[in-house]
Amino acid sequence: MCAKAGVAEKHLSQSLPIVRSVSELRARVAGWRSAHRRIALVPTMGALHAGHLALVTAARERADRVVASIFVNPRQFGPAEDLDRYPRDEAGDVAKLASVGCDLVYAPTVEVMYPPGFGTRVLIDRLGDGLCGAVRPGHFDGVGIVVTKLLTQAQPDLALFGEKDWQQLAIIRRLVADLDLPVEVDGVPIVRDADGLALSSRNLYLSPEDRQRALALPQALGRAVAAITAGAPVAATLVDARAALSAGGFGKIDYVELVDAASLEPLDRLDPGAPPARLCAAAIIGATRLIDNFAVVRPA
Ligand code: AMP
Repeated sequence: MCAKAGVAEKHLSQSLPIVRSVSELRARVAGWRSAHRRIALVPTMGALHAGHLALVTAARERADRVVASIFVNPRQFGPAEDLDRYPRDEAGDVAKLASVGCDLVYAPTVEVMYPPGFGTRVLIDRLGDGLCGAVRPGHFDGVGIVVTKLLTQAQPDLALFGEKDWQQLAIIRRLVADLDLPVEVDGVPIVRDADGLALSSRNLYLSPEDRQRALALPQALGRAVAAITAGAPVAATLVDARAALSAGGFGKIDYVELVDAASLEPLDRLDPGAPPARLCAAAIIGATRLIDNFAVVRPA
């Protein structure tokens, strides 16, 4: 049984329940499960925008009940990263989630997720080594533990993640397969502003000037994708893309890499008929680190 038209409207008129403990979450989910509802989970760190809401909308289409979690996970932030200033707006988030037909918000505290004595880690091999993993040591181990916990706490049939975090999505698919977690993982395409910048909670940090300059990221990647699919040499194209980012106002460029879309192995060529590839980049503008990625499919 799946969501029917009118469900979202019904939710607009109801207040959206928020639970903060595993036992409350499990009680809600158990009730739905005994009524044979298909349950989706959308994990987020809050500061929600249309990209997050697209995940909830996709979840509504694929399941009967949608749980969104809001948890700013300290374990995925490095010591010099933006944990303390990460944007938080729970009331605004809940209103947005209600407007797209979410059924339940799970907003645990840090103590619920990592109580005193917590001593388990989930270590991500290989897939977490390159790209963001190379410049954010421990980040994906933090993602691994929080996603494992959220999935075992909520026990959804389906969990949705954005393609915006391509490496994260690949890692979560691996993690779910490796740990035999009984959940389907779906990726949702990147939602962009009208001018092409991928939506991100961190865009809130950008000054108006940097917001404008940030467009160099999708533009440089878009040009590089066109060049590579037209047969241009990969290495030289990546050099050009980096130069375009620098010229556009980006400071440190963490990476601009062509990788196999599933294994994330770096590619220095794109053979006709080769498996799908992804062009991924991370770079810093002002004090804000932005990531983006594009599909690269060479015509056969
Ligand atoms: P975050 O709150 O940044 O941890 O993101 C929560 C989920 O939303 C992740 O699965 C992200 O990949 C996804 N997400 C964030 N931004 C976008 C976007 N612009 N388009 C699609 N999904 C997104």
